[in-house]
Amino acid sequence: MFPTFIGPTGLAKGYLRPETAQGIFVNFKRLLEYNQNKLPFACAQIGTSFRNEISPRQGLLRLREFQMAEVEHFLHPKDKSHPRFAQVSHVELHLLPREAQELAKEAEIRTIGEAVRSGMINSETLGYYIARTYLFLLRAGIKPDKVRFRQHLATEMAHYACDCWDAELLLASGWIECVGCADRSAYDLQRHSEFSDQQLMATERLDQPLRREVMFVLPNKALLGPLLGKRMTAVQKCLDELTVESKMAMQRQLVEQGTFVLSVAGEELELRPEMVSFKTEEQNVYDGTCFGYLFMLFLSSLLLIEHFTPHVIEPSFGISRLVYAILEQNFYLRDGDEPRAVLSFPPVIAPVAVTIFPLLNNKGFVVFIEKLSKEFRQAEVLFKVDDSNVNIGRRYVRADETGCAFGCTIDFDTLKDDTVTLRERDSMGQARLPISDVAAVVKALVQQKCTWEQLIKKYGLFVFAGDSR
Ligand code: AMP
Repeated sequence: MFPTFIGPTGLAKGYLRPETAQGIFVNFKRLLEYNQNKLPFACAQIGTSFRNEISPRQGLLRLREFQMAEVEHFLHPKDKSHPRFAQVSHVELHLLPREAQELAKEAEIRTIGEAVRSGMINSETLGYYIARTYLFLLRAGIKPDKVRFRQHLATEMAHYACDCWDAELLLASGWIECVGCADRSAYDLQRHSEFSDQQLMATERLDQPLRREVMFVLPNKALLGPLLGKRMTAVQKCLDELTVESKMAMQRQLVEQGTFVLSVAGEELELRPEMVSFKTEEQNVYDGTCFGYLFMLFLSSLLLIEHFTPHVIEPSFGISRLVYAILEQNFYLRDGDEPRAVLSFPPVIAPVAVTIFPLLNNKGFVVFIEKLSKEFRQAEVLFKVDDSNVNIGRRYVRADETGCAFGCTIDFDTLKDDTVTLRERDSMGQARLPISDVAAVVKALVQQKCTWEQLIKKYGLFVFAGDSR
């Protein structure tokens, strides 16, 4: 968050979020409840984010205020498998792992299945989101050879993250990060818990208690008691609170060097091997992070419930950057007498899917414009009518410039046989089909349930008499 001052007096302080995700974390308990207290579950949010950029530049690429969309997928820290991973494991994409970057190598094409199996990507769920992000980018019009997933170097990765891959898109200014896919571990929920004093945890039923090896340092009371007197309790507490690693280091040092210095309340106590012994034993554990919740632990041990802070996998989309990338990667100039601009948006994102063109300003065509308009409206296909007094070629050019995917032209044959032509923007190919088929066909094309090639197979390529194309 970064602070700002609200209103004319500037007395009220406000905070601007650097990402949309935090709203999801603070609502974690409600979301968990909404999901019948079961993991895994995911939540998505879209909204405005703010960054204190020193020098905003390059249009939508670096802004102080931009659109962001994030998915937070909460899961059990020990089970990061994904039930639908098999559906995407065959997806091939350009991956640039950490080691390849250190050796200045290029991205390699791999399937997401291979990358997860080999451990290059640290879990199925992270792999699943990388593959889904890739498929989403292609659907939105990003070119497959202009997208790569780059793993963060150890120096770039947040200290809490387990693994992180950026979807980078190739633009005129080079490779630009547009989506970040990260395994953020339990960090966000733990930090919100710490500062809010709310336990942001999940529970899971166990078939049998979880077991863990616990190490104890046992002071030799006969020897230390007379030496320490009342300080014995503080020493015992200090020994109990040592981490497993510290206890093991103490044991090693006593064996190897015959002495260990323990700091207790600012004083140093020199221990020798005969003063302490070490014992390990297996205990039932429910969660190492909730020592303070003895009652909960007691109940848990009766009910066989594990309490834990879920981990989170987060794909984070910079929508403004993505819009810029889609515009840039889909813009091209078509050769001709003079170069003509085309925006080759996939029909699903084209602002207008189809334009209705009456060939001429002829009263006889009006009834057909109305019929087509009604059918497109009913099929929920985005359309417009261009009946301006400009020749049809120029009107096609105008539609291509705006990224309109198809053109539906009413001509004099329409008056005879109720057919129209349908023109595809990029190939400029046309098919002739019955008016009654048009709305359903365009809808199928927009929804990617049918390709232009399949349509041509069914209706044939329409060639005007005297037209060589
Ligand atoms: P981050 O949390 O820094 O990984 O950012 C998530 C996504 O937000 C990035 O992948 C970018 O697409 C986008 N983003 C970050 N900073 C900016 C910015 N200043 N202007 C526009 N988009 C941004």
